[in-house]
Amino acid sequence: MPIRTIFFDLDDTLYPKDSGVWDALRGRIAQYMHEVVGIPEAEVQPIRELYLKTYGTSLRGLQTHYAIDAEAYLRYTHELPIEQLIAPNPALDALLSQLPQTKYIFTNSASYHAERVLRALGVERHFAGILDVREMQFHSKPHPFAYQLAFERSGTAASQALFVDDMPVNLAAAKQLGASTALVGSGEPDPAADVSIARVEQLIEAMPALVELPHG
Ligand SMILES: [Mg+2]
Repeated sequence: MPIRTIFFDLDDTLYPKDSGVWDALRGRIAQYMHEVVGIPEAEVQPIRELYLKTYGTSLRGLQTHYAIDAEAYLRYTHELPIEQLIAPNPALDALLSQLPQTKYIFTNSASYHAERVLRALGVERHFAGILDVREMQFHSKPHPFAYQLAFERSGTAASQALFVDDMPVNLAAAKQLGASTALVGSGEPDPAADVSIARVEQLIEAMPALVELPHG
């Protein structure tokens, strides 16, 4: 079954883990938990790890235990110096130009963060849309609701969808629904991934059939 739609994760997928963006975001989340929610500094990290394990995101955990305002949380945590951390990526631009599929950003972040990252990379023109955590009604990946939303919004069957993500848990959920998966990061094989690549720019190398889809 040919792949007709590709859902790209944003953070640590379209730019490398060592860019500093995700570290900066983690720093803002920790700051929010301490300064806004009032969690003692020493407890921030263990609580964050517990939330990630239990709920998938810090936000979901904070909503559950502290009834925080999600919009305020997203605005606070996404105040990041993106343009200082991410440079235009012509190789990524070239890769996306070669892929005939419809492309979406599928992210547990906020859409305005995604837009800013895509602009900094110089690749925003390639995407048909951004499915963010608010669109998911805060049922972040790997919650099945997020994937149903992705299929419905794009009008794509799972069997014709490819998910590209740096987190195996997000790909495992997609695979279980019948989609194809590409893991970006270590390049090591993973049971959740059909292919595993170190950088997103290697996607066509790893899945050459992607470029064979006739346009239209
Ligand atoms: Mg990611």
